[in-house]
Amino acid sequence: MSRGMDDNSTDHNNNSMQANQKDSEENMNQSKTGTPGVARERTQVSQHSLSDVARSRSISKGVTNNLGSGLEAKSVHAWFGSKHVLEDISMTFDTGTVTALIGPSGCGKSTFIRTLNRMHEFIPTAALAGEVLLDNSDIYAPGVDVTKIRLKIGMVFQKPNPFPSMTIKENVLSGIKLAQLKVDNQSELLESCLRRSGLWDEVKDRLDEYGGALSGGQQQRLCIARSLAVNPQVLLMDEPCSALDPGSTLRIEETIRELSESISIVIVTHNMQQAARVSDYTGFFLSDGGPGILVELGTTSDIFSNPKDKRTEDYVTGRFG
Ligand code: ADP
Ligand code: MG
Repeated sequence: MSRGMDDNSTDHNNNSMQANQKDSEENMNQSKTGTPGVARERTQVSQHSLSDVARSRSISKGVTNNLGSGLEAKSVHAWFGSKHVLEDISMTFDTGTVTALIGPSGCGKSTFIRTLNRMHEFIPTAALAGEVLLDNSDIYAPGVDVTKIRLKIGMVFQKPNPFPSMTIKENVLSGIKLAQLKVDNQSELLESCLRRSGLWDEVKDRLDEYGGALSGGQQQRLCIARSLAVNPQVLLMDEPCSALDPGSTLRIEETIRELSESISIVIVTHNMQQAARVSDYTGFFLSDGGPGILVELGTTSDIFSNPKDKRTEDYVTGRFG
């Protein structure tokens, strides 16, 4: 496995990022040359490490596979009652990429991610405008089956929420059962989901124990396995590591990189290092008291080393937030 910069590379970067190496142009070149001169020109210590971490990965430009090409938000607005909380957000999330959503608390990141799989509308008083396209079809179009959308666009929450009274095995297969999907070989599916979520080796001898018996980090990976069982095209993750210890966090980050080869991942994180480590693209959200806006969207490398907007720079260098 090759890396652009040995000194700052984190040891959990993995092979998945190599898949699209040929496709990435500028970042790839920066990564190869290591850009020591550029690094010296900067003054912020925190920016050094973040931008170096971000640059040490090559970005994925996305792929089209049998799961389609990805998700697109077009001019999304959201309200709670009369309070306008998101204004005109447009972003694309291609298959094969990881996008991090960052920004101070209350700027609308969770609201936005909930609009991406129709969870927003289940909150009383919530309203929405705009479109969310999955493979070019609006998930909000009349007649669309919300349950089917949720199968295609899975969600992992901040607090791991396995079903406590179900075994590990039952947890993983619960989505299949709920959606009454037919599966030829359940054992094979169980193993492949647990392998993809990075949990198999730790639980293969205890599949009939309760999910609640696992550690927090394992529970979160169990929830990821549960989401994967229904073969989603997109996985939404709202601060999935914020309740976890550093070891579990790194394990989940590895899992994210591995999964992102085949699906699209959108992750909200308050951890700038995490955004730099796992994502190809980063969107910076901000609210100045009014609705949250998307200040800047770019490659993660650009957002952390060469942001266009002063507010982005101030945020990623820790001046506020
Ligand atoms: P973030 O995830 O970036 O911290 P949120 O999306 O949770 O931000 O919140 C965006 C805004 O919407 C905030 O002003 C918050 O108070 C408001 N909000 C969030 N959830 C609700 C809700 N269920 N009812 C009313 N207002 C809400
Ligand atoms: Mg939130």
